[in-house]
Amino acid sequence: MEPLDILKQYFGYPSFRPGQEEVISTLLSSQDCLAIMPTGAGKSLCYQIPGLMLPGITLIISPLISLMKDQVDALTDQDIPAAFINSQCTLEESKARFSAIRIGKLKLVYVSPERLENDFFRSFMENIPISMVVIDEAHCVSQWGHDFRPSYCAIKDFIENLPQRPVVGAFTATATEQVKKDMLDLLGLQQAKVFIGGFDRPNLYFSVVQNVSKAAFTLQYVKDHPEDSGIIYCATRKVVDTVYEALKKQGVSVGHYHAGLADKVRKSMQEKFIYDKIQVMVATNAFGMGIDKSNVRYVIHYQMPKNIESYYQEAGRAGRDGLPSDCILLFSWQDKKIQEFLIENSVEDYSQQQIEKKQLQQMIEYCQTTHCLRHYILRYFGEQPAWKECHNCGNCEGEVVTEDRTKEARLICQCIGSMRRKFGSTLIADVLHGTDSDRVERYGFQRLAQFGALSEYTTSEIRDLITGCVEEELLDKEPGQYPVLELTYKGRQLANGFGQVLLKHKAVRKVKASTEKKEDRKKKKDESRRILEVPAAKRKKTAVNAADKDLFEALRGTRLELSKEMGMPPYIIFPDASLQDMAEKKPTTLDEFKDIKGVGEKKLKSYGKIFLQAIADFVSQSS
Ligand code: ADP
Ligand code: MG
Repeated sequence: MEPLDILKQYFGYPSFRPGQEEVISTLLSSQDCLAIMPTGAGKSLCYQIPGLMLPGITLIISPLISLMKDQVDALTDQDIPAAFINSQCTLEESKARFSAIRIGKLKLVYVSPERLENDFFRSFMENIPISMVVIDEAHCVSQWGHDFRPSYCAIKDFIENLPQRPVVGAFTATATEQVKKDMLDLLGLQQAKVFIGGFDRPNLYFSVVQNVSKAAFTLQYVKDHPEDSGIIYCATRKVVDTVYEALKKQGVSVGHYHAGLADKVRKSMQEKFIYDKIQVMVATNAFGMGIDKSNVRYVIHYQMPKNIESYYQEAGRAGRDGLPSDCILLFSWQDKKIQEFLIENSVEDYSQQQIEKKQLQQMIEYCQTTHCLRHYILRYFGEQPAWKECHNCGNCEGEVVTEDRTKEARLICQCIGSMRRKFGSTLIADVLHGTDSDRVERYGFQRLAQFGALSEYTTSEIRDLITGCVEEELLDKEPGQYPVLELTYKGRQLANGFGQVLLKHKAVRKVKASTEKKEDRKKKKDESRRILEVPAAKRKKTAVNAADKDLFEALRGTRLELSKEMGMPPYIIFPDASLQDMAEKKPTTLDEFKDIKGVGEKKLKSYGKIFLQAIADFVSQSS
């Protein structure tokens, strides 16, 4: 059988996603490979399919027990002979699995990295035909990654000691140079072919929302999507608990997860989320690796994460099933301070600190750009998209408004002109806002004509305006950790009264109140904030009509029942995408059911009748 046949017959998918086929054929040709693909890209199939095709067994090293169990459950449910061996197995289970391996009854065997250091396991494996070793979440071998796992360092030695060297495939979503280098060096890959890419996730709608009440926005969003599963990421445990309590008080079906909770609580929260028993999970970044739940419809970042890698990995947990999903980042300048604090207090090495601060700067740029968000991300990961606008992100879809800001931009340019030396945007914003800071006084800037000229804007709004001026090439920003600004020719022209400036804005909010007292200004601002609080949710809905939507919900009910009966997460039985396909096509025979997305031979046998019945019941009731 060819890979494509296996994809269809076992996994029930009609075609490969970008990159999958290349990785599969590389492994099949016995060449090592390192595949760096984003979360949700479909890495598992890249090794499961060759694993099924190669003779002997494939050993898959995976860092998390829950992840192994999920994958094995899913595979078994597709009639693929797979099992895991880890500390959770009873002695009997282990024995049974070892003998299944010995008689060649298993194809895919998942193990924890610690297992490779076990003497019994090592000598046992010497007598087993291992065709391939797969290292999932391969970044765990690197101290530079975010989940360093010392026993990953034993992998290389394990592979070298096997009597016959198997082909080795390493998989991760982490793309930084340092981690990549470590993976190539420390995992014992040989002349590995490196795949980077497929970073685009077209079904994800990215947006950055600023100048809103985060709490109100989140609550509204969650209430507007009562049927959807979602994750809300916060930067600290304290914020997790606050958001969690607030949602709970409003009757939302919500859980929380962070390192400060007892193991038992965390485990049960995670399980409830996976089994669709709670809709929303509020969590720190401790939550997620090992969550392969495919029907997460939105990921809201309540606070900005520390870099684009983390952001994309976390946001990427939305929409693994390929259905439209939202990735919303709620930005405030306070988030920058939090992340800076975290970097300064958790990273000891100075040069590492500098690296992380630079990454943070890029994260902020993402939040501030008025150009296509997807374009920014893909460029960040080294891709060169052939288009400039994706038409499926907050910036492309008109959350950006163009406004005449000639007056403001001119004042900014004049101010920078009169400051005479190069400074960063913080000080410039302080001067224009009229802040009596030490630095302002030290340079005597309170005597400048522009001092307080933009007092109706907050300093962070002025910084936004300055960013706009940079994008309009009125100012040049010298790169670096504390970038300083300089007038361009165009900027000098503007300062002298020539030109017009139309600035793009993400969230329009102008508080015209320069003559009012501070309290009044604050009140006005709160009011205008409230108006803007909740931008319309823009996620493109799939074209399901209302009746299909009801059927979809009914099928979700059927799936939930089954999930309880079988003790298996709902999305492992069928992803949402399959249910949606059923709701649209309304198959009436097993033959028609076979053509549903995600229905392979085994699923057809196990669930075909049950779902056909559910569809028939629904159709007869509603006609
Ligand atoms: P990753 O490990 O890269 O984060 P997974 O391997 O967990 O991603 O795959 C994510 C989801 O995509 C799974 O639900 C999987 O079934 C689905 N998937 C993978 N390949 C395909 C494909 N070719 N067509 C449709 N769905 C796919
Ligand atoms: Mg994976």
